Amino acid sequence: MTRPYNFSAGPAAIPADVLEQAAAEMLDWHGSGMGVMEMSHRGKEFLSIYEQAEADLRELLAVPSHFKILFMQGGGLAENAIVPLNLSRAGVVDFVVTGSWSQKSHKEARKYASEVNVVATAEDTGFTTLPDPATWTTSRGASYLHICTNETINGIEFHQLPDLNALGSDAPLVIDFSSHVASRPVDWSRVGLAFGGAQKNLGPAGLTLVVVREDLLGHALPTCPSAFDYKIVADNQSMYNTPPTWGIYMAGLTFQWLKRQQEGALTGVAAMEQRNIAKATLLYNAIDNSQLYVNKVAVNCRSRMNVPFFLRDESRNDAFLAGAKERGLLQLKGHKSVGGMRASIYNAMPIEGVQALVDYMREFETKQA
Ligand SMILES: *Cc1c(COP(=O)(O)O)cnc(C)c1O
Repeated sequence: MTRPYNFSAGPAAIPADVLEQAAAEMLDWHGSGMGVMEMSHRGKEFLSIYEQAEADLRELLAVPSHFKILFMQGGGLAENAIVPLNLSRAGVVDFVVTGSWSQKSHKEARKYASEVNVVATAEDTGFTTLPDPATWTTSRGASYLHICTNETINGIEFHQLPDLNALGSDAPLVIDFSSHVASRPVDWSRVGLAFGGAQKNLGPAGLTLVVVREDLLGHALPTCPSAFDYKIVADNQSMYNTPPTWGIYMAGLTFQWLKRQQEGALTGVAAMEQRNIAKATLLYNAIDNSQLYVNKVAVNCRSRMNVPFFLRDESRNDAFLAGAKERGLLQLKGHKSVGGMRASIYNAMPIEGVQALVDYMREFETKQA
């Protein structure tokens, strides 16, 4: 079955292979007589799904053994509270505000930390650049420093994680990697905690992934809900309460799909990274070489996952979207706070989809001329 190309920012496209396998297993998982949604999370069937998913993710992202992988609920927004509840120790925390998501995270943390410092921001550029880490003035004794490594709405991505030690800070780095997790490798030597909602690149909404260094566990504020205390969650293999079983299963199928991906000698996330670079290059080149389209983000921090762009003649927006839909190019409308268009080209988007978009953009522009 051929499907349209879906450019949604999230919940987003899921590989057809994954959806087909889930459909085939819907009524009877592996001869158990049960669908995955109907199983006890403590039964041997689901435990095998869980353990496989965790092992595959650890392998795919090369997560070192001194990090715990937690499967939680509440999404990225809940983590904006859960992180300070667990890591702030009610002290000082630092934020680098690079767009809508880090802005939100920073506001939420004020409820839990005694002091929340914005140590750098590029708000004055309309969030079209990233502040150079060399200019960040980190706070002494901060419990952690938070960044959003891919700003889904603004289309900004850190292509290298900051080295906080080199900046004279020993605060653990917290990264919100919701919208580019598994699109590229992670340098865990620079990370204390990473979190992400699953609905951009890993599967359906409802599952939140947390990867946390073991030494950061066990310092939750007394008011932290037990179900959100990372140590309790870790000590109970993410089963202190019922985990999002369907989301874990679907993410597990996505991990298997990722492991099968190959690009030359590369497999898994390294293969995806090569494809994601090729896809993003194709689309940004088409935008930059046109008279009609424009992307305002500085070239060195453009996101490979989320590509916002504008028509210089905004009165043509509706016509652009209608023509796109006719050609099976779905959900290209930009975020309401930014306007224009946004093409989200996560792992599940093949290069053929980006090529179809670029072809349509050229055709639409020529028709204008
Ligand atoms: C989508 C997104 C979130 C929010 O996730 P929810 O699951 O809606 O809470 C947070 N951060 C980033 C970077 C996102 O892209």
